[in-house]
Amino acid sequence: MRPSILFPLFAETRTLSGVGPKLEKLIARVAGTRLIDLVFDLPVGIIDRSYRPKLKDAQEGRIATLEVTVRDHLPSRDPRRPYKVRCADDTAFIELIFFRVKGDYLTRALPAGARRIVSGRIERFRDGLQMVHPDHIVEPEDIDEFTLIEPVYQLTEGLPLKSLAKAVRGALQAVPELPEWLDKVLLRNRGWPSFREAIFAVHAPESEADLSPASPARLRLAYDELLANQLALALIRLQMRGQKGRVLKSSGKLKAEAIAALPFALTRSQQNAIAEIEADMATPSRTLRLLQGDVGSGKTVVAMAALLNAVECGAQGALMAPTEILARQHMMALEPMAKSAGVRMAILTGREKGLAREQTLKALKNGLIDILIGTHALFSEDVAFRDLALAVVDEQHRFGVHHRMKLQGKGDKPVDVLVMTATPIPRTLALTAYGDMEVSRLTEKPAGRKPVETRVLSAARTDEIVQHLRRAIAKGARAYWVCPLVEESEKSDLAAAESRAAALHQALGVPVGLVHGRMKGGDRDAAMAKFKSGETKLLVATTVIEVGVDVPEATIMVVEHAERFGLAQLHQLRGRVGRGSAKSSCLLTYQPPLSDTAKARLKTLRETEDGFVIAEEDLRLRGPGEVLGVRQSGMPEFRLADLTAHAELLPIARDDAKLIVSADPALKSSRGEALRALLYLFERDEAVRLLRAG
Ligand code: ADP
Ligand code: MG
Repeated sequence: MRPSILFPLFAETRTLSGVGPKLEKLIARVAGTRLIDLVFDLPVGIIDRSYRPKLKDAQEGRIATLEVTVRDHLPSRDPRRPYKVRCADDTAFIELIFFRVKGDYLTRALPAGARRIVSGRIERFRDGLQMVHPDHIVEPEDIDEFTLIEPVYQLTEGLPLKSLAKAVRGALQAVPELPEWLDKVLLRNRGWPSFREAIFAVHAPESEADLSPASPARLRLAYDELLANQLALALIRLQMRGQKGRVLKSSGKLKAEAIAALPFALTRSQQNAIAEIEADMATPSRTLRLLQGDVGSGKTVVAMAALLNAVECGAQGALMAPTEILARQHMMALEPMAKSAGVRMAILTGREKGLAREQTLKALKNGLIDILIGTHALFSEDVAFRDLALAVVDEQHRFGVHHRMKLQGKGDKPVDVLVMTATPIPRTLALTAYGDMEVSRLTEKPAGRKPVETRVLSAARTDEIVQHLRRAIAKGARAYWVCPLVEESEKSDLAAAESRAAALHQALGVPVGLVHGRMKGGDRDAAMAKFKSGETKLLVATTVIEVGVDVPEATIMVVEHAERFGLAQLHQLRGRVGRGSAKSSCLLTYQPPLSDTAKARLKTLRETEDGFVIAEEDLRLRGPGEVLGVRQSGMPEFRLADLTAHAELLPIARDDAKLIVSADPALKSSRGEALRALLYLFERDEAVRLLRAG
């Protein structure tokens, strides 16, 4: 349970004075629904109101704060004309200009004869000064109601800065004094403020420099967040390791038989990865390993070797893919291996229903199935194994820590976990998401692969591409044609793909396949199978083929509107070709004009095929928040830390977390107690729960 001292921070924003239902909704759009979301919503700029001239000296165009006396009101009868209020100091006049004034607001805010402080932009009209809709109007004694350096927050339509800033100020009142959780030496060496001081400081910037990620207050908060993240992972890892695992050590007979069925030899990388995984499995503690390998590096075979190790030990294994297409593809790819090893495999996705599903579940429970391949459906309550020992999760970036933990519940005994990702995750990101895991990397591509020639072309040259396809297909080539992703609507994606397929069919006179996200599973499989077998030579697709699809004979990848795809996505798409021994090409078309970022992305892609280089570049161009589509990905979201600017803090936080966990694994010391509050503050409650359980 969250400590009560933090309760106020997790209250809803509507409990703030001045925040009604309408404002609540707008605030939710930019920050969140709770006070802590406001507290963590950092300013993105400042407005400097410290210029306080006499009127005769006031410079046009500047934001100024003026002390004036209200002289007279000049209302207008015509609602299209402004309402003017004439004010003056002892040097000159200024007119305050208002449009669409409601009721008696102005006579109350600016009674004639009263002294007021007004702040806004000075403008000159004919001979006089004016200020249109001052941002602030206060009585001189209330000057503190706004700061002369005003923080600016990200806004959304209909949300005035003033209202948001007021809500933030209200939320700040809920920030309690908390015991220090940072290491004293670190704190001293860095000269960082306390958490509460830092929070107040970031919301009261005094200059542009205070907005910099390198300001002491921002550094401190970023470090807090990274430490919470690393500590949570360290605790999860400790718990996994601490749990008695099982020793899964076999003679390797099944693996050898399965590998013998392959038409190729394993790469050294693959052999190393298998050895590392087997070594993990052979220890009595839990295996938790990440297998990182670029598209086409051959992760599936490695997974199979690990699964067979479990099976040979008399247990069961599961392989989980993010989509049905992939699950079926794994099934097909692995069947020959399973056959030659004499191992029984089955598939379970959302599509297996009724009797077939029941039979599979029964067989699984009775141990008649050795390896189960499937999608998220493997998570369902009613899926019970006789003895699950190893779970392999493919394309991990869609699964988060909580999924990993959920898997644990599937076996009576602890389940070893191997996660595989094709997205070459930059080191910094890998550490934040997988800091709890060991990592194996497949660094070489299978032998005989040729580099993919990548070309970037304006959409105006689509006809040339079609001509090129005609010649290539006549010679037996197979090609993908990927249609643009239109964010707003799946429907328009589909329309684009359908009309492209029709146009290509007409232009080329060959059968054209089509796969898209809204297709029924069976139809999609059929289309994929036809492409795989070569019955159709051209496959038009929306991005459903993005991850993992494997048709080694395909040698051409056309991506339409490449400027709309992310770098990592394009890399994934390109990875669909260049898998066989024939020379492959990737044609990226774009609709001019290209933005600078899009230009940079396409250039990177043309220059390198190294997934890790691309991932780092992607991180640089887009920032970590978007690199993997954080929300669906299970990648942690950082609100105060900026992984590009604060990367240097991450290894420090990791080492700090390691030390903490080894010295005080139950977080019982006084620093430990303070760290618990930190975990709650950053909503790593899961990790704290482990403490209690363990
Ligand atoms: P990914 O790492 O993207 O999941 P896959 O496991 O799907 O890659 O492998 C891509 C293709 O490479 C498959 O057709 C697979 O059979 C083939 N492959 C895997 N390992 C090797 C190897 N050592 N030599 C040649 N081809 C291989
Ligand atoms: Mg794969």
